[in-house]
Amino acid sequence: MNDGTDFLVVGGGIVGLAVALELRRRGLGSVTLLEKEPALGLHTSGRNSGVLHAGIYYATDSLKARLCAEGSRRLREYAIDRKLPLRTCGKVIVASSEQTAPQIDVLYRQALHNGVRVERISPDELSRIEPEATTHGVALHSPDTAITDSRSILQCLSEDAADAGVRIERGVRVIRADDQARVASTTAGPCPYGILVNCAGLHADRIAHAAGVGLEYAILPFRGMYRKLRAEAAARFRGLVYPAPDLRVPFLGVHITPTVHGDVTLGPTALPALGRENYGWINGVRPREAARMGWDLGRMLILNRHGFRKMAAEEATRYTKPGFLRDARTLAPRLRGRDVTGWSKVGIRAQLINRKRLELVMDFVVEEGTRSVHVMNAVSPAFTSALPFAELVANRAATIR
Ligand SMILES: Cc1cc2nc3c(=O)[nH]c(=O)nc-3n(C[C@H](O)[C@H](O)[C@H](O)COP(=O)(O)OP(=O)(O)OC[C@H]3O[C@@H](n4cnc5c(N)ncnc54)[C@H](O)[C@@H]3O)c2cc1C
Repeated sequence: MNDGTDFLVVGGGIVGLAVALELRRRGLGSVTLLEKEPALGLHTSGRNSGVLHAGIYYATDSLKARLCAEGSRRLREYAIDRKLPLRTCGKVIVASSEQTAPQIDVLYRQALHNGVRVERISPDELSRIEPEATTHGVALHSPDTAITDSRSILQCLSEDAADAGVRIERGVRVIRADDQARVASTTAGPCPYGILVNCAGLHADRIAHAAGVGLEYAILPFRGMYRKLRAEAAARFRGLVYPAPDLRVPFLGVHITPTVHGDVTLGPTALPALGRENYGWINGVRPREAARMGWDLGRMLILNRHGFRKMAAEEATRYTKPGFLRDARTLAPRLRGRDVTGWSKVGIRAQLINRKRLELVMDFVVEEGTRSVHVMNAVSPAFTSALPFAELVANRAATIR
């Protein structure tokens, strides 16, 4: 570590790998990527739904809208080029209740503003595309939504990065970064750097705060738990089935998602976690941090910005199988309890909150320190958006230089 590096990338998820590769391809200097785990993909990038989103939901002037559609096209091309698993199976978005029916037109207009291909379809057309799905009134069809295997993408990107000359060190954790001294302390000793790029996902706020950046933000982790459909029920689904979501919050509701491996998952939930890596019941919980998160959550519930209390109440019911199934059946009424397994996998969203305004941050956030760039709130669709997102982050890093 003592030799130092021109660019020090913290975190080997999809964002860190794509940024490291982009910096190296530009030939701006040496690039080192540090990943605290012994392997890649152990956190969010390896635990997601594997959906390459089309870019429908996001406010037109947002980074998400700017990067998602292009990111999806480029990752699909990448997967095809590298012969990685990919199925462009399409997605339907249905009105799961009378109350959400007007949302379909809102989403339709949003998609058109974002330049995304989407069709309004009647209930009959919906039955032809996805026979198990139901809707109140019209639905939407997104033919370009695709699914992939996230870990295969990560593996291939890490090989490309290593081939391009990125030095990738696994099992090395960055403890803090000092922008004035331009040195990061790590578990393998001090590492001098020219520019540090923080892509630490669930820990990005801690690295940023140590560099004096983004102090109004903190991560409030939200746990996404999935169930699976048993084989006989899974065989009845062709593509993805989503409800029209509440666009005031960054979660999409329980949905039905096939995987490239032939499974069909239900979920994920969006329940507050007790810790950044709280994948089981109590592992990954740090009492002081859990207290801060509980305090923030309590204040957000009291303030109730953007209908947060309603969302939290709805999410809480999804902890039980009947509550979870009730929501899934608003999309596909023929589903029965016997079709659904217990909890299958868990991922945790690195959701940023603004602690002054006590609200969930909706868009990706990229903040700069004197010698550092910090990627914060790399929540969905950051996986889909990773390639153009990396270009944006590399531009910011190159400007500081
Ligand atoms: C349940 C769920 C489903 C999702 N589904 C989708 C989807 O279908 N499509 C989509 O586009 N997006 C989806 N997302 C979002 C997507 O997975 C994330 O936006 C994306 O993976 C974020 O990547 P990342 O590189 O920022 O974070 P990560 O993948 O978490 O990578 C960060 C890395 O940094 C490392 N790290 C942290 N701190 C340090 C440190 N101090 N030193 C060294 N290394 C460190 C971590 O170990 C980790 O490997 C989903 C997310 C969740 C939780």
